[in-house]
Amino acid sequence: MSLVGEYDGNNIFAKILRGEMPCVKIFEDDNVLAFMDIFPQSQGHCLVIPKNTTARNLLEFPADRLGPYFAAAQKLAKAVVKALDCDGVIVTQFNGAPAGQTVYHLHVHIIPRYTNLPLQPHHGGKPADTTVLREQAARIAAAL
Ligand code: 5GP
Repeated sequence: MSLVGEYDGNNIFAKILRGEMPCVKIFEDDNVLAFMDIFPQSQGHCLVIPKNTTARNLLEFPADRLGPYFAAAQKLAKAVVKALDCDGVIVTQFNGAPAGQTVYHLHVHIIPRYTNLPLQPHHGGKPADTTVLREQAARIAAAL
């Protein structure tokens, strides 16, 4: 069952954290890494993941680490709004496949919303142009 199970140390985000797979980084500190989503649901879609954990989802994450983790998510959401001048922002995460989770290392999505622009499907489409992601990441990082 995808909601309960063993942490797979070879999941994509674990590989990104170990530097075995590339990502377009926005910021990192001792606790978190923030980077651009490669299949963005809107322009500026990014993710923040905790370091030093085997939590597959929110339910498995130690409660005493939630404060710093969600503080980082809030910091990223504020920077996204400031940098990209979006009209709204979704801050969300999914637990288990029926809920929409596809990568089993805890992550929070920051998804900017723009009035009258539709949201792209979750898990859909082609990978984004890395040059565009780098430019967006630089703007978000500058707004932190
Ligand atoms: P979930 O479906 O588990 O909530 O979210 C996983 C997210 O990771 C999706 O939004 C998906 O687009 C993103 N993603 C999947 N593979 C990669 C990858 O290799 N690099 C990056 N940066 N994002 C990825």
